[in-house]
Amino acid sequence: MASLSLSNIQKTFGTFKALQDVNLEIESGEFICLLGGSGCGKTTLLRIIAGLETKTSGNLMLDSSNLSEVDCHKRNVGMVFQSLALFPHLNVGDNIAYGLEVRGVEKSKRAAKAVELLEVVGLGGLYERKVSALSGGQRQRVAIARALAIEPKLFLMDEPFSALDAGLREHLQIEVKKLQRKLGVTTIFVTHDQHEAMSIADRIVILNEGRIEQAGTPTEVYAKPQTRFVADFMGTNNIFSPVFSAGQDAMLENANLGMPTGDLANVNGKYTIAVRPEYLRLKPASEYSKGLVGTVDFVRLLGASIETELSVGDRSFIHTMVSDRAPEFAVGDRAEIDFDFDHAWVIPS
Ligand code: ATP
Repeated sequence: MASLSLSNIQKTFGTFKALQDVNLEIESGEFICLLGGSGCGKTTLLRIIAGLETKTSGNLMLDSSNLSEVDCHKRNVGMVFQSLALFPHLNVGDNIAYGLEVRGVEKSKRAAKAVELLEVVGLGGLYERKVSALSGGQRQRVAIARALAIEPKLFLMDEPFSALDAGLREHLQIEVKKLQRKLGVTTIFVTHDQHEAMSIADRIVILNEGRIEQAGTPTEVYAKPQTRFVADFMGTNNIFSPVFSAGQDAMLENANLGMPTGDLANVNGKYTIAVRPEYLRLKPASEYSKGLVGTVDFVRLLGASIETELSVGDRSFIHTMVSDRAPEFAVGDRAEIDFDFDHAWVIPS
Protein backbone atom coordinates (compact mmCIF):
# COMPACT_ATOMS: atom_id res chain seq x y z
CA MET A 1 0.00 0.00 0.00
CA ALA A 2 1.21 3.48 -0.75
CA SER A 3 0.01 7.06 -0.82
CA LEU A 4 0.46 9.23 -3.88
CA SER A 5 0.84 12.98 -3.98
CA LEU A 6 0.50 14.98 -7.20
CA SER A 7 1.53 18.65 -7.06
CA ASN A 8 1.05 21.15 -9.86
CA ILE A 9 1.26 18.57 -12.62
CA GLN A 10 1.34 20.18 -16.07
CA LYS A 11 1.56 18.48 -19.43
CA THR A 12 1.82 20.22 -22.76
CA PHE A 13 1.92 18.63 -26.21
CA GLY A 14 3.46 21.38 -28.35
CA THR A 15 1.38 24.40 -27.39
CA PHE A 16 -1.63 22.33 -26.27
CA LYS A 17 -2.11 22.16 -22.50
CA ALA A 18 -3.34 18.62 -21.80
CA LEU A 19 -2.99 18.94 -17.99
CA GLN A 20 -2.91 22.09 -15.89
CA ASP A 21 -2.33 22.57 -12.17
CA VAL A 22 -3.30 19.05 -11.18
CA ASN A 23 -3.05 18.72 -7.40
CA LEU A 24 -4.26 15.58 -5.69
CA GLU A 25 -3.50 13.61 -2.53
CA ILE A 26 -4.38 9.93 -2.76
CA GLU A 27 -4.40 7.99 0.48
CA SER A 28 -2.94 4.55 0.93
CA GLY A 29 -5.53 1.92 -0.02
CA GLU A 30 -7.90 4.39 -1.67
CA PHE A 31 -9.87 3.57 -4.83
CA ILE A 32 -9.85 6.68 -7.00
CA CYS A 33 -11.75 7.10 -10.26
CA LEU A 34 -10.51 9.68 -12.74
CA LEU A 35 -13.69 10.70 -14.53
CA GLY A 36 -14.22 13.02 -17.47
CA GLY A 37 -15.20 13.30 -21.09
CA SER A 38 -13.07 12.41 -24.09
CA GLY A 39 -9.81 14.33 -24.27
CA CYS A 40 -9.94 15.78 -20.73
CA GLY A 41 -6.54 14.29 -19.85
CA LYS A 42 -7.42 11.14 -17.87
CA THR A 43 -5.16 8.76 -19.78
CA THR A 44 -2.34 11.29 -19.92
CA LEU A 45 -2.44 11.64 -16.14
CA LEU A 46 -2.49 7.88 -15.63
CA ARG A 47 0.42 7.42 -18.05
CA ILE A 48 2.43 10.09 -16.22
CA ILE A 49 1.84 8.25 -12.92
CA ALA A 50 2.89 4.96 -14.55
CA GLY A 51 6.00 6.57 -16.05
CA LEU A 52 4.88 5.92 -19.63
CA GLU A 53 4.64 9.66 -20.29
CA THR A 54 6.81 12.48 -18.99
CA LYS A 55 5.21 15.46 -17.28
CA THR A 56 6.15 18.96 -18.37
CA SER A 57 6.40 20.15 -14.77
CA GLY A 58 5.19 19.38 -11.26
CA ASN A 59 5.92 16.82 -8.63
CA LEU A 60 4.89 13.18 -8.08
CA MET A 61 5.58 11.51 -4.75
CA LEU A 62 4.86 7.86 -3.97
CA ASP A 63 5.14 7.68 -0.19
CA SER A 64 8.45 9.45 0.38
CA SER A 65 10.03 8.71 -3.00
CA ASN A 66 10.06 11.17 -5.86
CA LEU A 67 8.62 9.20 -8.76
CA SER A 68 10.28 11.41 -11.35
CA GLU A 69 13.58 9.87 -10.32
CA VAL A 70 12.30 6.29 -10.63
CA ASP A 71 12.32 4.52 -14.01
CA CYS A 72 9.02 3.29 -15.36
CA HIS A 73 9.80 -0.43 -14.82
CA LYS A 74 10.99 0.18 -11.25
CA ARG A 75 7.88 2.06 -10.12
CA ASN A 76 6.14 -1.11 -8.99
CA VAL A 77 2.93 -0.19 -10.75
CA GLY A 78 0.44 -2.76 -12.06
CA MET A 79 -1.51 -1.59 -15.07
CA VAL A 80 -4.55 -2.82 -17.00
CA PHE A 81 -5.38 -1.16 -20.31
CA GLN A 82 -8.54 -1.28 -22.38
CA SER A 83 -6.58 -3.18 -25.01
CA LEU A 84 -5.37 -5.73 -22.40
CA ALA A 85 -2.10 -6.46 -24.25
CA LEU A 86 -1.94 -10.09 -23.11
CA PHE A 87 0.75 -12.21 -24.76
CA PRO A 88 -1.01 -14.52 -27.24
CA HIS A 89 1.88 -17.01 -27.38
CA LEU A 90 1.84 -17.61 -23.61
CA ASN A 91 -0.76 -19.59 -21.71
CA VAL A 92 -2.88 -17.97 -18.98
CA GLY A 93 -0.54 -18.86 -16.11
CA ASP A 94 2.59 -17.65 -17.90
CA ASN A 95 0.85 -14.40 -18.80
CA ILE A 96 0.11 -13.80 -15.13
CA ALA A 97 3.62 -14.79 -14.06
CA TYR A 98 5.33 -12.67 -16.74
CA GLY A 99 6.08 -9.66 -14.53
CA LEU A 100 7.63 -11.93 -11.91
CA GLU A 101 9.83 -13.61 -14.53
CA VAL A 102 11.12 -10.21 -15.66
CA ARG A 103 11.94 -9.50 -12.01
CA GLY A 104 13.95 -12.74 -11.78
CA VAL A 105 11.59 -14.64 -9.48
CA GLU A 106 12.24 -18.40 -9.69
CA LYS A 107 9.86 -20.59 -11.67
CA SER A 108 8.13 -22.49 -8.84
CA LYS A 109 7.38 -19.27 -6.94
CA ARG A 110 6.05 -17.62 -10.12
CA ALA A 111 3.79 -20.55 -10.81
CA ALA A 112 2.51 -20.62 -7.22
CA LYS A 113 1.68 -16.91 -7.39
CA ALA A 114 -0.12 -17.38 -10.72
CA VAL A 115 -2.18 -20.25 -9.29
CA GLU A 116 -3.07 -18.15 -6.24
CA LEU A 117 -4.16 -15.19 -8.37
CA LEU A 118 -6.15 -17.37 -10.75
CA GLU A 119 -8.20 -18.43 -7.72
CA VAL A 120 -8.54 -14.81 -6.59
CA VAL A 121 -9.96 -13.68 -9.95
CA GLY A 122 -12.21 -16.72 -10.25
CA LEU A 123 -10.30 -18.58 -12.96
CA GLY A 124 -8.94 -21.46 -10.89
CA GLY A 125 -7.88 -24.40 -13.08
CA LEU A 126 -7.26 -22.38 -16.24
CA TYR A 127 -3.47 -22.08 -15.88
CA GLU A 128 -2.69 -24.05 -19.03
CA ARG A 129 -5.45 -22.53 -21.17
CA LYS A 130 -4.44 -20.53 -24.25
CA VAL A 131 -5.35 -16.84 -23.99
CA SER A 132 -7.04 -17.08 -27.40
CA ALA A 133 -9.44 -19.67 -25.95
CA LEU A 134 -10.79 -17.31 -23.28
CA SER A 135 -13.94 -15.15 -23.32
CA GLY A 136 -13.67 -11.35 -23.12
CA GLY A 137 -14.49 -11.33 -19.40
CA GLN A 138 -11.95 -14.08 -18.68
CA ARG A 139 -9.22 -12.18 -20.53
CA GLN A 140 -10.04 -9.13 -18.46
CA ARG A 141 -9.54 -11.18 -15.30
CA VAL A 142 -6.21 -12.50 -16.58
CA ALA A 143 -5.07 -8.92 -17.25
CA ILE A 144 -6.09 -7.95 -13.69
CA ALA A 145 -4.28 -10.97 -12.22
CA ARG A 146 -1.18 -10.17 -14.28
CA ALA A 147 -1.13 -6.58 -13.02
CA LEU A 148 -1.53 -7.73 -9.41
CA ALA A 149 1.06 -10.54 -9.59
CA ILE A 150 3.94 -8.18 -8.91
CA GLU A 151 2.19 -6.99 -5.73
CA PRO A 152 2.18 -3.43 -7.02
CA LYS A 153 2.19 -0.37 -4.80
CA LEU A 154 -0.19 1.24 -7.27
CA PHE A 155 -2.84 -0.49 -9.36
CA LEU A 156 -3.79 1.56 -12.44
CA MET A 157 -6.65 0.73 -14.80
CA ASP A 158 -7.55 2.61 -17.97
CA GLU A 159 -11.16 1.96 -19.05
CA PRO A 160 -10.62 -1.78 -18.56
CA PHE A 161 -14.25 -2.80 -19.03
CA SER A 162 -15.42 -0.45 -21.77
CA ALA A 163 -15.36 -3.13 -24.49
CA LEU A 164 -17.56 -5.53 -22.51
CA ASP A 165 -21.34 -5.80 -22.54
CA ALA A 166 -23.26 -4.05 -19.76
CA GLY A 167 -23.97 -7.15 -17.64
CA LEU A 168 -20.39 -8.39 -17.61
CA ARG A 169 -19.09 -4.87 -17.01
CA GLU A 170 -21.24 -4.47 -13.89
CA HIS A 171 -20.21 -7.91 -12.66
CA LEU A 172 -16.49 -7.15 -13.08
CA GLN A 173 -16.87 -3.72 -11.46
CA ILE A 174 -18.15 -5.40 -8.32
CA GLU A 175 -15.45 -8.08 -8.50
CA VAL A 176 -12.63 -5.58 -8.90
CA LYS A 177 -13.94 -3.46 -6.04
CA LYS A 178 -14.13 -6.47 -3.72
CA LEU A 179 -10.66 -7.59 -4.77
CA GLN A 180 -9.21 -4.13 -4.22
CA ARG A 181 -10.77 -3.97 -0.73
CA LYS A 182 -9.36 -7.37 0.11
CA LEU A 183 -5.85 -6.53 -1.10
CA GLY A 184 -5.93 -2.90 0.04
CA VAL A 185 -3.91 -1.77 -2.98
CA THR A 186 -4.04 1.93 -3.83
CA THR A 187 -5.97 2.07 -7.09
CA ILE A 188 -6.59 4.63 -9.84
CA PHE A 189 -9.25 3.73 -12.37
CA VAL A 190 -9.93 5.83 -15.49
CA THR A 191 -13.45 5.97 -16.85
CA HIS A 192 -15.73 8.30 -18.78
CA ASP A 193 -18.81 6.59 -17.30
CA GLN A 194 -20.20 8.34 -14.22
CA HIS A 195 -22.27 5.28 -13.22
CA GLU A 196 -19.14 3.13 -13.22
CA ALA A 197 -17.28 5.74 -11.14
CA MET A 198 -20.19 6.09 -8.70
CA SER A 199 -20.42 2.36 -8.15
CA ILE A 200 -16.76 1.59 -7.46
CA ALA A 201 -14.83 4.67 -6.30
CA ASP A 202 -14.02 5.75 -2.78
CA ARG A 203 -13.39 9.15 -4.33
CA ILE A 204 -14.13 10.51 -7.80
CA VAL A 205 -11.83 13.07 -9.40
CA ILE A 206 -13.63 14.90 -12.19
CA LEU A 207 -11.39 16.32 -14.90
CA ASN A 208 -12.38 18.92 -17.45
CA GLU A 209 -10.00 20.30 -20.07
CA GLY A 210 -6.95 19.13 -18.16
CA ARG A 211 -7.99 20.54 -14.78
CA ILE A 212 -9.59 18.98 -11.72
CA GLU A 213 -13.12 20.37 -11.40
CA GLN A 214 -13.87 18.57 -8.15
CA ALA A 215 -12.69 15.63 -6.09
CA GLY A 216 -14.99 13.98 -3.57
CA THR A 217 -16.86 10.86 -2.53
CA PRO A 218 -19.53 9.66 -4.97
CA THR A 219 -22.19 11.13 -2.68
CA GLU A 220 -20.42 14.49 -2.49
CA VAL A 221 -19.93 14.94 -6.22
CA TYR A 222 -23.49 13.81 -6.93
CA ALA A 223 -25.25 15.67 -4.14
CA LYS A 224 -22.93 18.69 -3.71
CA PRO A 225 -21.41 19.55 -7.06
CA GLN A 226 -19.30 22.69 -6.84
CA THR A 227 -19.54 23.66 -10.48
CA ARG A 228 -22.11 23.53 -13.22
CA PHE A 229 -19.85 21.14 -15.13
CA VAL A 230 -19.84 18.63 -12.27
CA ALA A 231 -23.59 19.02 -11.72
CA ASP A 232 -24.23 18.19 -15.38
CA PHE A 233 -21.62 15.49 -15.67
CA MET A 234 -22.80 13.53 -12.65
CA GLY A 235 -26.40 13.16 -13.75
CA THR A 236 -29.50 14.76 -15.13
CA ASN A 237 -30.18 18.17 -13.75
CA ASN A 238 -32.92 20.71 -13.79
CA ILE A 239 -31.30 24.08 -14.22
CA PHE A 240 -33.48 26.90 -13.01
CA SER A 241 -32.02 29.68 -15.08
CA PRO A 242 -32.01 32.59 -15.61
CA VAL A 243 -29.04 33.50 -13.52
CA PHE A 244 -29.51 35.89 -10.66
CA SER A 245 -27.21 37.93 -8.48
CA ALA A 246 -26.50 37.37 -4.81
CA GLY A 247 -29.05 39.10 -2.61
CA GLN A 248 -31.77 39.01 -5.28
CA ASP A 249 -34.71 36.63 -5.21
CA ALA A 250 -34.37 33.77 -7.67
CA MET A 251 -37.23 34.29 -10.11
CA LEU A 252 -38.42 32.32 -13.09
CA GLU A 253 -41.29 33.33 -15.38
CA ASN A 254 -42.51 35.83 -12.75
CA ALA A 255 -42.61 33.13 -10.06
CA ASN A 256 -40.40 33.55 -7.01
CA LEU A 257 -38.68 30.21 -6.50
CA GLY A 258 -38.30 31.01 -2.81
CA MET A 259 -34.80 29.55 -2.63
CA PRO A 260 -32.80 31.02 0.28
CA THR A 261 -29.85 32.79 -1.34
CA GLY A 262 -28.83 35.23 1.38
CA ASP A 263 -25.42 33.86 2.29
CA LEU A 264 -23.82 33.38 -1.11
CA ALA A 265 -20.06 33.65 -0.95
CA ASN A 266 -19.46 36.03 -3.81
CA VAL A 267 -21.85 38.96 -3.58
CA ASN A 268 -20.90 40.14 -7.05
CA GLY A 269 -21.26 36.67 -8.55
CA LYS A 270 -23.95 35.33 -10.83
CA TYR A 271 -25.70 32.14 -9.78
CA THR A 272 -28.11 29.57 -11.01
CA ILE A 273 -30.10 26.82 -9.28
CA ALA A 274 -29.72 23.13 -10.06
CA VAL A 275 -31.99 20.35 -8.83
CA ARG A 276 -31.87 16.61 -9.50
CA PRO A 277 -35.05 15.16 -11.06
CA GLU A 278 -35.77 13.10 -7.92
CA TYR A 279 -36.04 16.29 -5.84
CA LEU A 280 -38.42 18.15 -8.10
CA ARG A 281 -41.98 18.21 -6.70
CA LEU A 282 -45.13 18.37 -8.78
CA LYS A 283 -48.71 19.03 -7.82
CA PRO A 284 -51.74 19.63 -10.01
CA ALA A 285 -51.96 23.31 -11.00
CA SER A 286 -55.12 25.31 -10.52
CA GLU A 287 -56.19 28.80 -11.48
CA TYR A 288 -54.94 29.91 -8.05
CA SER A 289 -51.41 28.53 -8.46
CA LYS A 290 -48.87 31.23 -7.68
CA GLY A 291 -45.73 29.18 -8.27
CA LEU A 292 -44.03 27.98 -11.41
CA VAL A 293 -46.53 26.16 -13.64
CA GLY A 294 -45.49 23.84 -16.45
CA THR A 295 -47.16 21.61 -19.02
CA VAL A 296 -46.51 17.87 -19.10
CA ASP A 297 -44.92 16.95 -22.46
CA PHE A 298 -44.02 13.33 -21.89
CA VAL A 299 -44.43 10.54 -19.32
CA ARG A 300 -42.09 7.54 -19.43
CA LEU A 301 -42.36 4.37 -17.38
CA LEU A 302 -38.82 3.15 -16.71
CA GLY A 303 -39.52 0.03 -14.70
CA ALA A 304 -38.57 1.10 -11.19
CA SER A 305 -39.27 4.79 -11.82
CA ILE A 306 -41.56 7.16 -13.69
CA GLU A 307 -40.06 10.10 -15.57
CA THR A 308 -42.19 13.13 -16.36
CA GLU A 309 -40.96 15.84 -18.72
CA LEU A 310 -42.49 19.29 -18.44
CA SER A 311 -41.99 22.60 -20.16
CA VAL A 312 -42.26 26.15 -18.91
CA GLY A 313 -41.93 28.45 -21.90
CA ASP A 314 -38.86 27.17 -23.74
CA ARG A 315 -37.31 25.52 -20.65
CA SER A 316 -37.79 21.87 -19.92
CA PHE A 317 -37.74 20.08 -16.59
CA ILE A 318 -37.49 16.42 -15.68
CA HIS A 319 -39.16 14.86 -12.64
CA THR A 320 -38.59 11.29 -11.54
CA MET A 321 -40.26 9.26 -8.84
CA VAL A 322 -40.36 5.65 -7.74
CA SER A 323 -43.10 3.83 -9.65
CA ASP A 324 -44.93 2.32 -6.73
CA ARG A 325 -48.14 3.89 -8.01
CA ALA A 326 -49.63 4.89 -11.34
CA PRO A 327 -48.39 8.12 -13.00
CA GLU A 328 -50.13 11.14 -11.48
CA PHE A 329 -49.85 13.24 -14.62
CA ALA A 330 -50.67 12.72 -18.27
CA VAL A 331 -49.45 14.59 -21.34
CA GLY A 332 -51.07 18.01 -21.52
CA ASP A 333 -51.70 18.31 -17.76
CA ARG A 334 -50.63 21.49 -16.00
CA ALA A 335 -48.48 21.01 -12.92
CA GLU A 336 -47.03 23.34 -10.31
CA ILE A 337 -43.29 22.75 -10.00
CA ASP A 338 -41.21 23.30 -6.93
CA PHE A 339 -38.30 21.57 -5.24
CA ASP A 340 -36.78 20.61 -1.96
CA PHE A 341 -34.36 23.43 -0.98
CA ASP A 342 -32.20 21.04 1.04
CA HIS A 343 -31.43 19.14 -2.14
CA ALA A 344 -30.99 22.04 -4.50
CA TRP A 345 -27.75 23.91 -5.11
CA VAL A 346 -27.03 27.46 -5.91
CA ILE A 347 -23.98 27.23 -8.13
CA PRO A 348 -21.80 29.89 -9.73
CA SER A 349 -22.99 30.48 -13.24
P1 ATP B 1 -10.35 9.53 -23.91
O1 ATP B 1 -11.43 9.24 -22.91
O2 ATP B 1 -10.91 9.93 -25.24
O3 ATP B 1 -9.30 8.47 -24.00
P2 ATP B 1 -8.64 11.17 -22.21
O4 ATP B 1 -9.32 12.01 -21.20
O5 ATP B 1 -8.00 9.92 -21.75
O6 ATP B 1 -9.63 10.89 -23.42
P3 ATP B 1 -6.02 11.92 -23.12
O7 ATP B 1 -5.75 10.71 -23.94
O8 ATP B 1 -5.35 12.05 -21.82
O9 ATP B 1 -7.59 12.11 -22.93
O10 ATP B 1 -5.68 13.20 -24.02
C1 ATP B 1 -5.81 14.52 -23.52
C2 ATP B 1 -5.56 15.49 -24.65
O11 ATP B 1 -4.18 15.43 -25.01
C3 ATP B 1 -6.34 15.17 -25.93
O12 ATP B 1 -6.76 16.39 -26.50
C4 ATP B 1 -5.34 14.46 -26.80
O13 ATP B 1 -5.61 14.68 -28.17
C5 ATP B 1 -4.03 15.13 -26.38
N1 ATP B 1 -2.90 14.21 -26.55
C6 ATP B 1 -2.71 13.05 -25.89
N2 ATP B 1 -1.56 12.46 -26.26
C7 ATP B 1 -0.99 13.30 -27.18
C8 ATP B 1 0.22 13.27 -27.93
N3 ATP B 1 1.08 12.27 -27.80
N4 ATP B 1 0.46 14.30 -28.76
C9 ATP B 1 -0.42 15.33 -28.88
N5 ATP B 1 -1.55 15.42 -28.19
C10 ATP B 1 -1.86 14.42 -27.36
